[in-house]
Amino acid sequence: MSVYLDYNASAPINSKVLDYMVEIYKTSYGNADSRTHNYGNSARNIVEQARGKVAHILGINKDEVFFTSGATESNNIVLQGLKSYAEKSNKKHIITTAIEHKAVLETAKYLRTEGFEVDFVSPDRSGRISVKTVIDLLRDDTLIVSIQHVNNETGIIQPVQEIGDFLSDKEVFFHVDATQSFGKLVPELKSLKYNMLSMSAHKIGGPQGVGALILKKKRYHLPPVKGIMYGGQQEHGIRPGTIPVALTAGCGCACEIAEQSYEENREKLKNLKAIVFGILEKSGIEYRFNGDQHFCVSSTVNVCFPGVMSEALMIATKQYCGISNGSACTSSSYAPSYVLSAMGIPNSDIECSVRISWGPETIPEEVEESLRSLTEVAKQIKG
Ligand code: PMP
Repeated sequence: MSVYLDYNASAPINSKVLDYMVEIYKTSYGNADSRTHNYGNSARNIVEQARGKVAHILGINKDEVFFTSGATESNNIVLQGLKSYAEKSNKKHIITTAIEHKAVLETAKYLRTEGFEVDFVSPDRSGRISVKTVIDLLRDDTLIVSIQHVNNETGIIQPVQEIGDFLSDKEVFFHVDATQSFGKLVPELKSLKYNMLSMSAHKIGGPQGVGALILKKKRYHLPPVKGIMYGGQQEHGIRPGTIPVALTAGCGCACEIAEQSYEENREKLKNLKAIVFGILEKSGIEYRFNGDQHFCVSSTVNVCFPGVMSEALMIATKQYCGISNGSACTSSSYAPSYVLSAMGIPNSDIECSVRISWGPETIPEEVEESLRSLTEVAKQIKG
């Protein structure tokens, strides 16, 4: 039996979320923006309830939540949606990191072709970027600082709290891609200071294809982010198009469950990480972690087995577990991970690194068994 250990790519949908969504697909087929009948009202109520649940887990107001198709779209809207404000205010400098998800990196690269200047900050071997480097790069014409909360490949938590505190009284927007921390680092996100935040429901047991963009109000005003598609006025024009009622409901339901269970989940994840550490230690195989584990979430490890090519290891262990060697968005290419490269890890180590990630419903005994098999196979490959 193969155990799914690629939660950072996508987590299985929670069965309560699925049941709730099926019910909504069956009964609430109206358009949430139809004003002429009760079907529309009923759909609108479901969407607004879901919006309230997303707001609640973050401790923000409902009118700061905008549903999108997921974090890729949210990240694009934040960066591209500020273009006209940037042009008017002559603020066309962006600070981000070299280890962002492609949805930020590629959008920032596109904006460079539109006359923006972008600084990409690299982390050190710990996997963390330096707060001082970010602060030193700030200029009078800096428009936005966009930094992920948790890296999807390494699980390393970035110092977004310190950066948010520093930027809170500056005229610079702060965007946090919280796709890998949302619903997990719940109190941390509640107390974080930011202007914009992105999330995807499928990382926390919600459905694929829905997420949210949070735009925090300042003195009763939303940040000057404009929608990047032309269409209707859904989501105040930030994201035109018919609101997918069941998907947003699933997103809200996943948020509610995550909020109720994050403390319990945190303990389960910690326990699973201790099991992973124990198996690696006992196996006798040479290994080293990529990224400083003091800053790593309890649901991810990125580990190098020197001399064991990750492609060979993944193929040879398919019957035991589903793991990966980079983000799913780039895994169709065999280029070495740009995240690990930016950390200064040599290609010879990157080629031998894999990411293992799990969730609260992962069964400890199954992890033990599958990772024991994985380390045995790794030893055989090494020869
Ligand atoms: N940002 C981060 C940090 C991610 O891990 C992901 C998904 N791997 C995304 C953005 C994009 O999310 P989605 O594919 O759901 O749009």
